[in-house]
Amino acid sequence: MRHIAIIGSGPAGYYTAEAAQKKFGDDVRIDIIDRLPVPFGLIRFGVAPDHQSIKAVAARYEKVALSDNVRFVGNVSVGTDVSVDELATFYDAVVLATGAPNDRKLEIPGGDLPGVLGSAAFVGWYNGHPDFADLDPPLDGKNVAVIGNGNVALDVARILSKTRAEFAGSDIVGHAIDALAKANTEEITILGRRGPHQIAMTPKELGELGHLERAAPRVESGDFPEQAADALLEPGMRKSVTHLREFAAIPESFRADKPVSINFDFFAAPVAIEGDGKIERLVIERTELDDQMRSIGTGETYTIDCSMVISCIGYQTPPIEGVPYEHGRGRFASDQGRILPGLYCVGWARRGPSGTIGTNRPDGYAIVDLIAADISHGGRKSGRDGLDILLEQRGVDVVTFRDWKKIESAEIARAREGSPREKFVAVKDMIAAGR
Ligand code: NAP
Repeated sequence: MRHIAIIGSGPAGYYTAEAAQKKFGDDVRIDIIDRLPVPFGLIRFGVAPDHQSIKAVAARYEKVALSDNVRFVGNVSVGTDVSVDELATFYDAVVLATGAPNDRKLEIPGGDLPGVLGSAAFVGWYNGHPDFADLDPPLDGKNVAVIGNGNVALDVARILSKTRAEFAGSDIVGHAIDALAKANTEEITILGRRGPHQIAMTPKELGELGHLERAAPRVESGDFPEQAADALLEPGMRKSVTHLREFAAIPESFRADKPVSINFDFFAAPVAIEGDGKIERLVIERTELDDQMRSIGTGETYTIDCSMVISCIGYQTPPIEGVPYEHGRGRFASDQGRILPGLYCVGWARRGPSGTIGTNRPDGYAIVDLIAADISHGGRKSGRDGLDILLEQRGVDVVTFRDWKKIESAEIARAREGSPREKFVAVKDMIAAGR
């Protein structure tokens, strides 16, 4: 029997479990450990609440979780309740699928002023992550700056723009929909340090900005290269750029009944945030591209007024003491996922925060191939029995998948009309609902 512990119950964790089941059949026992009492990681806390079709992939993960040889072991924090070294004594393979839940820090003067938020915090707030339920973002100002030209910047701008009615069918948490309904936002500026041809935004997500009830995108036509250059782009990117060109052609008359403007400011690198005890303005340097398509400052600066800055410039994996880590790239140090004998990483914890949810599937299958090559047959490890004894000795209140199903039922039962669920946002409430 092979015993595998997977740390993290997001997409990378579940695809790894699915792959291990397929590879080893009845000859494997898999524990998926999560520090929270609720599963699915990025699906629950990262994917935007108005993108329910993406969240539907959780049904596939549930099938894995409900099979006989897989367990969800929730409310167990690796590093606090149990160490990686201890897990290594119980399991033949320990796989870190911990994602990249921490923000890459915006390292500019004023970056620590109140009102400067990372996207992990802001996204976590509207998605009901217990760590960010009390964030209380300053939504009283008219101008918000969103830094970054990736899909997270788009999610953030769209969520800031939507009306209460546009959240119908979403599972945005009550505290966020109420706060957003009272917000005074009029201008959302999305800053990209490079140009329209260098965005990291996908067409479907970008296109959504063109169909908002009370907001319209604004793009400067002078920011584009010659139209002919679009033909050289790969098809997805070309579609995204086509959306941007359409936004640039939106007539002023269309904006008449749109009180919110989403302004794309390209070739714009934030250099400082200024204000007296809170954010008042963002200082931006105009950039241009060098021949390697890197952004370089031109020395020309300007400011925009804003009362909140949301930095969407990527994520990092939190280090774990004793586990080799690449500080520059914010992920575990590994050779294709092998960290140390018996210790592996997968998904964003291995390759950094890139790709779609589906990219984690081949990742999970690849790491299981490595495990199969390294552990040709199971050793004499105790597996889950050893973990259970240790957690009981330490008084850890483990949440099982069956408990989670009770939490889920309670969340469905308390949903506001038209919403699939109202999430519990405090760990203690989740645990109480699971009992
Ligand atoms: P991302 O795609 O890597 O985009 C990060 C953006 O931040 C880039 O435009 C980057 O610009 C910019 N940036 C980085 N450092 C900066 C700095 N110091 N100053 C100014 N700008 C800076 O990351 P993400 O948006 O966080 O998304 C993470 C992953 O999740 C991506 O794979 C994304 O596609 C995925 N995602 C998908 C969806 C969806 O499919 N619906 C939704 C959300 C997220 P440069 O290019 O110049 O470095």
